[in-house]
Amino acid sequence: MSVVILVDEFDGKVARSTGELATFAARIGDVTAVLFDENLLPQLSEFCIDKVIVVSDANRNSPAEVAQVLSQIVKEKSPKAILVTSTITGKEIAARTAIRTNSGIITDAIDLASDLTTTQSIFGGALIVKARVQSSCAIIAIRSNSVDIDVTKSSPGIERFSGSISESLERVLSVEMAAKGNRPELTEATIVVSGGAGTKGDFGPLEEFADSLGAAVGASRAATDAGWYPHSSQVGQTGKTVRPQLYVAVGISGAIQHRAGMQTSKLIIAVNTDADAPIFDIADFGVVGDLFSVIPQATAAIKAKKP
Ligand SMILES: Cc1cc2nc3c(=O)[nH]c(=O)nc-3n(C[C@H](O)[C@H](O)[C@H](O)COP(=O)(O)OP(=O)(O)OC[C@H]3O[C@@H](n4cnc5c(N)ncnc54)[C@H](O)[C@@H]3O)c2cc1C
Repeated sequence: MSVVILVDEFDGKVARSTGELATFAARIGDVTAVLFDENLLPQLSEFCIDKVIVVSDANRNSPAEVAQVLSQIVKEKSPKAILVTSTITGKEIAARTAIRTNSGIITDAIDLASDLTTTQSIFGGALIVKARVQSSCAIIAIRSNSVDIDVTKSSPGIERFSGSISESLERVLSVEMAAKGNRPELTEATIVVSGGAGTKGDFGPLEEFADSLGAAVGASRAATDAGWYPHSSQVGQTGKTVRPQLYVAVGISGAIQHRAGMQTSKLIIAVNTDADAPIFDIADFGVVGDLFSVIPQATAAIKAKKP
């Protein structure tokens, strides 16, 4: 066995980030995926995965239980690395697994080389850090939207997890999906429309625009701190990292901390009244104008093109 990845399950589906973990893992060697919901098995054939370990008697929503599973796999199979997605839960799982296996841990990696050297971008992208775990198994949490997914199809072999889960010190009593509309998840979306202080708290035109494109809605910290949009939608250094095909920054100045979370988007469009706003330095297309005039016109034009 070479590298183990923890399958990300989201909303009854295998999340896109799983494909990214598989892509990174394949740079190092054979890829073994650890899956808790067996119903999702067919979806894993979309990614370059050699083997799947199906775990049936542990709770995927409990970081403590997932860490127990991963640490038993480390002890039995001696993988070179365990890769998880660098979400809050993913980092908790990584930390717990590292403690249980006495392994080194690196979080928030944005790249991983075949010799297990990781890259981290810190202080809003001002510093690039290269680091490598020295212990025999490296526990690495990788930010989503860091790599293009290798879509090589596979038909992985199946193995059942044969370990056991001891009584956890804490217990997850229930997990419910937070109420949300039909918009895609921010880190999974191929198009993200984000609003900033320029919206003056009115995200209505942006949401309508996003819905016309099937996009997720993000926000700058100025907007989330003001309470105009949930903190879970914040893009940037202290928010989420997104790497969609198209990122539309509306009424956002382009502070370095915001750019840290979106600057690797494939195509960036900015709408801002200030022609000197720093966001235009990284935008592929820019519209200098009032968002309350530009965005409704764009929405109307997109709707007019739809059958
Ligand atoms: C440690 C630290 C971490 C941080 N983390 C983050 C982070 O994760 N994410 C983040 O976003 N920020 C973060 N920040 C904050 C960051 O420095 C900026 O303050 C913030 O990004 C500014 O948000 P903004 O662009 O919406 O607001 P502003 O900088 O106020 O920009 C508003 C823009 O809207 C334009 N505008 C105004 N009216 C209109 C209109 N009618 N139509 C079109 N344009 C208009 C203005 O010209 C201006 O460019 C962090 C800061 C620190 C110190």
